[in-house]
Parts: sequence; C-alpha cells; structure tokens
Amino acid sequence: MALFGKKTAGDTAASTTSSKELLATYELAVKSISDGVMVIDSSKNATLVNPAMLQIAGWGNDDAIGLNYKSILNLLDANDNQPTDVDSPIEVAFSTKKLFECKSCKVLTKHSGERVPVFLAVIPSGDNLVVTVRDITKELEEDREKTEFVSTASHEMRTPVASIEGYLGLALNPETATIDERAKAYLGKAHEASQHLGRLFQDLLDVTKLDDQHIKIDPHLTDVVALARNVFEGQAERVHEKGLNYIFLPDQNVSGERTIAPVLYAKVDQDFLRESVDNLIENATKYTPQGAIEVNVTADDNNIVLSVKDSGIGIAPEDLSHIFQKFYRADNSDTREIGGTGLGLYISRKRTEDTGGRMWAESEYQKGSTFFISIPRLSNREADELKKLEATRAAMMQGEDTQLNPFTGQVSAKAIPEASNYRPVAAPETPPAQPVSTPQAQTPAVTEAPQVT
Ligand code: ADP
Repeated sequence: MALFGKKTAGDTAASTTSSKELLATYELAVKSISDGVMVIDSSKNATLVNPAMLQIAGWGNDDAIGLNYKSILNLLDANDNQPTDVDSPIEVAFSTKKLFECKSCKVLTKHSGERVPVFLAVIPSGDNLVVTVRDITKELEEDREKTEFVSTASHEMRTPVASIEGYLGLALNPETATIDERAKAYLGKAHEASQHLGRLFQDLLDVTKLDDQHIKIDPHLTDVVALARNVFEGQAERVHEKGLNYIFLPDQNVSGERTIAPVLYAKVDQDFLRESVDNLIENATKYTPQGAIEVNVTADDNNIVLSVKDSGIGIAPEDLSHIFQKFYRADNSDTREIGGTGLGLYISRKRTEDTGGRMWAESEYQKGSTFFISIPRLSNREADELKKLEATRAAMMQGEDTQLNPFTGQVSAKAIPEASNYRPVAAPETPPAQPVSTPQAQTPAVTEAPQVT
C-alpha cells in the first residue's frame, strides 16, 4: 500500500479529509517513536521536531518549531569538538544533497550540558532535510561490557592454557619424559590443540584491545625497507623448513643479482607494521604447499607499498572480499586441514589502518595471493626534520643535551623544538621513485554509507 496517494482531479471532500487523517496518523507515528526526528527547511529552520528529539537535545517540552536547527540540536564530534559549517553533518548534507551518517557524534544537551552519544542520519528530501538521532548510550555500554568480558576471559584462560602447553611439551620431549608411541600421538594432538587455543586467546585479546582503542600508537621515523628485511629474516628458518623459495626483492635487481636497496622512510608505529608484515609472511608460508614467497617494498613520491606474494592455494573470489572480517576463514578442501583463528588479517588490517596505512589483497584461486600494505612516504627532508626532532625529544627525556640517533649516529640537540614546529614540507629532495604498480583495493564486503565519521 502506498503511504501517500496522489490527488487526482476527481478527488472528493471525503478523500481530502482522509488525507488529513492520514497526515495526522503519520504525525502521531513520528511523535511516538523513540528516535529523535527533526525536519529542517531550506531556511535552516525546524518545521517538525518530535518529542524524542526534544528530549535528547535537552529541551523538555519547550516548543522548538520555527527555530534555527542550531539552537535546537547542538552536535559535537567524537572528540567533543563543535563542528564548523564546513564539516557539520547537517551543513554537508545541505550542500551535497547526499545522505550523511555519523556513528560517533554526540549531542550536547541544552540545560545539563551532558554529552549524549548518538547515531545521526541526515537525509535530504527535496529542499528539506530529515534529521534522525538515536541515543546509543546503552548500546555502547553493552559493547564495552562485552569487550571487557572477552578480554578478561581470554586473559584469565591464557595462563592455564600456557601451562598445559608447557607440560605437554615436556611430556613429548624425550629428554624430559619417557612415553610409548601411542601416548606420544595422543599428547601430540593435545599439544597442537593447546597451541591453537593459546593463539586464539592471544588473538582475542589483541582484537578487544584494538577495538576498544586500548592500544597506544607510537609512531616513529622508520626505514621501511630495513624493517621489512628484518621481519623477512626472522621468518626465514620456518619458510626454508617448508622447502619454499624465499626472496627479498629490494636486495636484488631484475636478473636476481644482489643490489643496494633504497632507503624509504615513513612515520609509523614500528611494532604495528612489524606485526602486520610478520602475519602476512606467516600466512603466505601456511597457505603455500610449494613454490615461492616474495617480499617486496616499492614506492612512488607519496606512498610506500610492501607486498607479500605467494604461489600458494589462492583465495576464491567469493572469499576474497571477506577475509579481513573477524573470524572469517575460507572453507574448502585446501584450507580445512590448515589451522587458524580467522583473526590474523582482521588484526593486521586494523593495525595497518591505525598507523595510517591501507591493506588489501589480490588472489587467483589455486595460483597464489599477494597482500599489500601501503603507507604514506616521507620525503628525505621530512625524514631529516623528524630525525632531529626525535633525537632532541629523546635527549630531553634523558635530561641530556645529546643523544645517539640510530639512523645517523651522534646528534647534538641543544634546543628543544615544540611538536608544532614540525611541518611536513613538499618533497623537492625526494630521490627518484621506484615504479609502483599499486593495484586497486578490493571493494569492502560491507557497503558503507556515503560519509561516515
Ligand atoms: P587464519 O588464522 O585463518 O589464517 P587470517 O585472518 O590470517 O586467519 O586469514 C583469514 C583467511 O584468509 C584464512 O583462513 C585463509 O582462508 C585466507 N588466507 C589468508 N592468507 C592467505 C594466503 N596467503 N593464501 C591463501 N589464503 C589466505
């Protein structure tokens, strides 16, 4: 049934009355819902404000019709800042005429000054805007409690599982225990399962910390090629044990001869980047029964791209758009025997994004996969400035006026610049960039609203 019928030439007084009734019914419906609703006209005045909106905005029963929307709804962003006319969701929706959603906005209430977390949607309708606001205080609290429970449970269970794993290891070690072959086989299986459980608890802890923004991000000047080489070398034994070819491309030219790798700088959290690359190489090893793994680092003026390419089992197109989701594992005859939690890529992508990068994958089923991490590149001049700033800060922390810089050796640091003195500058001194063929990111599986802050 259509909500509003079109008036035709033959409409009678009775049908006009029924339109009025219909309108009154809709008004009643809008009044009775628990989400706040406000309609704003092209002069930016409210033409409809339902009681829930008045309550969330802290207006009580005062009449707000006809007032400018700003005097009714005082919006704040996630950091409690008042949006300007340029970034205000309502102003943006007025100028773009597109739906705007904000999952992390707040409403500053009129009388008590309380900050109410809300889900805000601004929906253009002709020259008007329909603004809906849902108080998500309870949802956030439930999420927080859930996260806290998972985090506490994982933490508490990790310790006994580590102990079980340790004792099973001792039982399986011929130097510490003597057991018959059958017991060895059983205990071997128990050992594997306890290792899997330990990994799952660790991953769950990491996920809850990342989701809850509990992890402090500590970005520093980083030589990305050196970091990638270090992670590459750390995994060499495991990859070689599996009989795979293992190549670090920045140290080789096209004919495979040794060459001098470029120095490419970025400002990133080194632990985050290290763990993400480590996870990609670990996955490449796990999902490649034979063939090769190639690790590469390339760059253009703006970005550095790390890639881990394998000739493994590949990922079917229907799985590819889901593999970065929590607990997602491709389920087919190739993967069934390979252990995992389905959390590694979610954690790696989150860590990469938290440190200012992007992660995506390309794959051909049964041929192999390539995973990419792209991070903003610093020019040589920016890197130099940051190097001096970090050295000075380190000296200040130690109460000295000189400090050894790991990149350059000794650096004297007498003045202590303010953080705001550091301004990224254009990159005239950037060395010639290596060509990069940056593939397009995979379309995320979840379609997002046009703009979500
Ligand atoms: P898991 O612990 O299952 O490896 P991840 O989050 O690291 O969890 O990966 C999610 C899924 O993506 C895996 O279960 C696997 O199906 C697929 N996958 C990840 N890396 C590769 C790869 N290099 N080759 C093939 N499939 C992969």
